Amino acid sequence: MKKRFRFVLILLALVMVLGTACSGKEENTHEDIEGSNGHIYKDGTYQGVGVGNGGDILLEVAVRDGKISSIDVLENKETEILSDVAFEKIVQGVLDNQSVNIDTVTGATISSVGIMSALKDALKKAGGNDETFKMDEIIHLADREDELDQTYDVVVIGGGGAGLSAAIEAKSAGANVVLLEKMSSVGGNTLVSGGGLNVPGTEQQKELGIEDSVELFIEDTMNGGDNINKKELVTVIAKNALPTIEWLVNEVNVEFMPDRLQQFGGHSVARALIPKNNKGTELIKKLKDYGDDLGVVFKMETKAEKLIVDENNRVVGVMAINTAGQEITFNANKGVIIATGGFGANLEMRKKYDPEKDEKYKATVLAGTTGDGIIMAGDIGADLIHMEYIQTYPTCNPRTGIISYVANSRFDGAILLNQEGVRFVEEMDRRDVISKAILSQTNQEGYLVWGQEVEEVGNMTEVHKDEYKVFENMDLIYKAETLEELAEHFDIDKANFMESIDKYNGYVDNGKDEEFNRRGSLKHIAKGPFYIQKVIPAIHHTMGGIVINEDARVLDKDGNIIPGLFAAGEVAGGIHGTNRLGGNAVTDVIVFGRIAGQKVVE
Ligand code: ADP
Repeated sequence: MKKRFRFVLILLALVMVLGTACSGKEENTHEDIEGSNGHIYKDGTYQGVGVGNGGDILLEVAVRDGKISSIDVLENKETEILSDVAFEKIVQGVLDNQSVNIDTVTGATISSVGIMSALKDALKKAGGNDETFKMDEIIHLADREDELDQTYDVVVIGGGGAGLSAAIEAKSAGANVVLLEKMSSVGGNTLVSGGGLNVPGTEQQKELGIEDSVELFIEDTMNGGDNINKKELVTVIAKNALPTIEWLVNEVNVEFMPDRLQQFGGHSVARALIPKNNKGTELIKKLKDYGDDLGVVFKMETKAEKLIVDENNRVVGVMAINTAGQEITFNANKGVIIATGGFGANLEMRKKYDPEKDEKYKATVLAGTTGDGIIMAGDIGADLIHMEYIQTYPTCNPRTGIISYVANSRFDGAILLNQEGVRFVEEMDRRDVISKAILSQTNQEGYLVWGQEVEEVGNMTEVHKDEYKVFENMDLIYKAETLEELAEHFDIDKANFMESIDKYNGYVDNGKDEEFNRRGSLKHIAKGPFYIQKVIPAIHHTMGGIVINEDARVLDKDGNIIPGLFAAGEVAGGIHGTNRLGGNAVTDVIVFGRIAGQKVVE
C-alpha cells in the first residue's frame, strides 16, 4: 500500500470513529479518500471479469468525475430470465447507491456474485481495492413495501411452467389473477430444462413416419412408473398433449425445432418436441410475455407461507411474506392454485421420505424446489401420495450436479462405459435404472462416449456449446481424433475400452445390441472426432406430492374435494408412479396447469 494512501486510511478510521460516535451512523464516502481528482476511482473505462453459473461475465465500467457512471455487460452465459433480474437490479443498485456492497438477488446468487466480482475487478483497475470496497454502504435491494391485504379472484403460488399456464388460463377466462413467486424471476425448473415435451400424434411424427398413439403413450408412461401411476391422470396428460401443443404454438407463440424429435429413455418411439435452442427458456419467456400481455399480476420475491381456510373448510386465500419481512394476505374469491414444484432441494424432506437420498447427492433442481406447497396443503388435510419415489437424473455434472444437455447425446446414440472400459447398462433404459447402475461403478461415475455419426444427429456439443465449455474447463469432457486418446485422457483401461467399442460397432452392423438390447436407432462410434464425458446421477424429480383429481382439484385423506384448492405440476403426486419418463414433466405441468386455471374459474 502506498504511504500516502495508508495515512489517508488512518485518518479515515479516526473520522469514522468520531463520526459514528457523534451521529451513530457511518458517513464516510469515497470522497473522503483522495484519488487523483479527490476520489478513489480515476476517470476512464475499465473492463472486469467475474465467474457466474455459465462461465465468465465480462463488464465494462465507466467512471466519470470519480463516480461509476455506467456499467455495460459485454459478455455473459448466465441462464436467461433467471439472471436477467440480477443484472438489472445489481447494475441499477450500484449506479444509484455508488456502492459495491449490493445484496445478492434471490434465486440468482451465483450470477449475482459473478457480477459483483466482475465489477470489483474493473474498479481495481480504476484505483479501488478490497479496503476501499469495504467502505461502501451495504444495500439490501429487496427492501420494499407491499399492500398488506390484497384481493383477487385467483391466487397462483409458484411461477414455473404449471403456475404460468394456470395463471394465463384463469386470466383468459376473465378472472383477476395474481401469481406469487418466491424467487426474483419466474421459470422454475422448466427454465433450466431442455424444454422437451412428449406429444403423440404430431405433424413431426407423421413426417418422419413414426406411428404413435395416445394409448401407446399411456402404456409407456405406466410401464415407466411400474404401473402404480394413477392411470386416469396419465390419460388426461396423454389426451391433452396435442391440443396443448397447438395452444403453445398458436396462442403463446412458442417455437419448436421443426424437424427434431427426441426419443427419451423408456419411450417406444421418438415423441418429444424440442423448443427453439433446446432450452426451456423459450417456453418460459413466451408464457411470461403472454401472461404480461393478458394482465396477470406478478408478485416476485413473495413467498407463500400458509393457506387460509374459512369456517366451511374452503381455501379462501394465502398468507405470504415478502423480502422485507412483511406478512401479506392475498384473498382469493374463486380459489388458490398450488404450483410450487417438488422437493428435490429440501434435504430434510428427501431424507424423511427416502433416507437413501441424503447429502451424498447433488441436485439438478433450483434452490426454490423445497416442497413448500406439499407442506402447506398437507397442513390443511390434503392427502399425499408416492412421497418415497425420488428420481435421480443419470447424466449430470460431477462437480455441480447440474443436468447436462450435452450428455443427451445418449439419446442420439452415445454409449456408457465405466472406468474399466466396459458397458454396464442399456443406455436407453429408465433414469432410475441407469442412475443405480452408474452408482455401482468405480468412483460412482460413468463415461459417455460418442463419435461423429452420433454428433450429427443432434449436434449436442454445438447446440449446448456454453455447457460444453463449462465441462471442458472442469476437465470433464474431452474431444480427440482417436478413441485411444479418449481412454488415455481419463485413465480408462484402453484394451477393454477399444474392445467394448468394437463389439458395439458390430451390434450396429447387425442392427441388434446383443448385450443390452438397446432401444432406438444404433449408431457407429467409428468416425472422429470422438467425445468422452464424465457423468454422475443427481436428484432431479420428486414423483410424490398432493393428491389431485382429473380437474386438478386437491383431495383430502377421505378422497373428498377440498373446496377452493387446486394443484398442478410437480407438486401433484401419483402421475408418474415410481419413476417419471424424460419429456413427461413439461407435458404434465402445462396440461395440468391449464386445467387448474380453467377449472378454478368455472
Ligand atoms: P412446475 O414444473 O411444477 O411448474 P417448478 O419447480 O418448475 O414446478 O416451479 C415451481 C415454482 O414455484 C418455482 O419458481 C419456485 O421458486 C416457486 N415456489 C416454490 N415455493 C414457493 C412459495 N412458497 N411461494 C412462492 N413461490 C414458490
